[in-house]
Amino acid sequence: MSDRIRCTCRRCTIRSLMGPAVVITIGLLFLLDQLRGGDFSFRNTYPITLIVIGAVSLASALASAEGHNSGSVPPNAPGSTPTAPPNQLPGQGQRQ
Ligand SMILES: [Zn+2]
Repeated sequence: MSDRIRCTCRRCTIRSLMGPAVVITIGLLFLLDQLRGGDFSFRNTYPITLIVIGAVSLASALASAEGHNSGSVPPNAPGSTPTAPPNQLPGQGQRQ
């Protein structure tokens, strides 16, 4: 298991829909090809996949990143390594 925390901000949520959107689009295009053939062959309809990728990317870029979590473990989360004790000041313990 990774320590990565899944971000739930709007931008990351929309970005996470990219994979499913592309798979569904390609599936629908192949379905149309099977049902109708001719004009709906994948060779003619692949630009729709590019449009879906662009639309999801655009929506992700325009969405708010408020509350974005960069994926690192928060400082006080369980399992994180403690930093220097708060009572130790820089330069302490050095002799001249
Ligand atoms: Zn985020």
